[in-house]
Amino acid sequence: MIENVIIIGAGPAGLSAAIYLARSGLSPLVFAGSPPGGQLTLTSEVENYPGFESILGAELIERMRNQAKKFGTRIVDENVMRVDFSKKPFKFYLLKIGSMPFFARSVIIATGARTLWLGLESEQRLRGKGVSACATCDGFFFKDKTVAVIGGGDTALEEALTLTKFAKKVYIIHRRDSFRASRIMQEKIGVGHARPVQKNPKIEIIWNAAVEEIMGEKKVTGIKIKSKILNPKSQINNKSQTQNFKRLRFGTSNLFGTCNLEFRVLPVDGVFIAIGHKPDTDLFKGQVELDEKEYVKIIERRGTSVPGVFVAGDCADPYYRQAITSAGTGVEAALEVERYLENTK
Ligand code: NAP
Repeated sequence: MIENVIIIGAGPAGLSAAIYLARSGLSPLVFAGSPPGGQLTLTSEVENYPGFESILGAELIERMRNQAKKFGTRIVDENVMRVDFSKKPFKFYLLKIGSMPFFARSVIIATGARTLWLGLESEQRLRGKGVSACATCDGFFFKDKTVAVIGGGDTALEEALTLTKFAKKVYIIHRRDSFRASRIMQEKIGVGHARPVQKNPKIEIIWNAAVEEIMGEKKVTGIKIKSKILNPKSQINNKSQTQNFKRLRFGTSNLFGTCNLEFRVLPVDGVFIAIGHKPDTDLFKGQVELDEKEYVKIIERRGTSVPGVFVAGDCADPYYRQAITSAGTGVEAALEVERYLENTK
């Protein structure tokens, strides 16, 4: 049997595409992955998806699945292990070797992206309890609180700026002494000399520092950071840097090179990890063109380098990364699939 369309991924992008294609009578087959659901299922409350003032991420996904099924989508909670897009019909295998392929005339890649985490046990335990990777989604919960953003790229600075709308104090904790972020973003937060800029009074940058542990049992209460002391005397005497900290101990380590290290506890209510994302596109290497950061390259509208293969959601989007923007691109991809199938009958 040759399917009209196979959708790989069942986050907002894949499921929105499925709803449209099912309603068009194309009976899409969705490989949802195992475990299914993507990043939304790992979020707690969602308050920025139109139509829902507040809903748990997992419930939102469940509703999308039910809506897609109601119109005739078939959802299989399995991972696709191998694809062959070199000729039509396209082939999909659920095992690396030995399984019978599924065939389809068209494809929507909607495998999403994963947040990169620091890898701390406490970070995983406190996710949704003060640890987040999305200021747009969760900033609202930190009104008049103190938060820390970890990272030094555009996302970290953008997250910090977003958080200043809610929090009373925002620390940016970066492992080096300069940001990777674009100049314009740096200027927005008051770093850089190209234009005179007003420093955002809510933002304080802690350079050369790494998070050792996120503290708290049921919710975040603070972070333990270690920072490199370049000039120990000046740092000790700098009141603004020390007044909020409890100094624990000094040490020497070669983690930042050989240097003096200071360990401190910084009381915060929330921690936003912004150290990058990785698109889930390993499966498509050598099958469709990826960009230098391994996001699927969009050639035209939602099309990829292979005619008949379309893409939606975060696996092609390093910028917006919102459930609602993913859902929108899912719909775009579905409309492109309909046109493609119509034209290649
Ligand atoms: P990124 O540019 O890769 O930056 C990641 C940051 O996290 C870097 O500063 C890195 O430190 C730090 N980092 C990585 N691993 C870490 C670890 N284990 N512990 C501590 N820090 C760690 O990622 P991004 O900021 O998400 O941006 C991704 C892409 O999207 C970029 O091309 C960016 O320009 C683009 N973007 C653009 C906009 C915009 O234009 N408005 C907004 C967001 C993102 P080092 O610097 O030391 O490596």
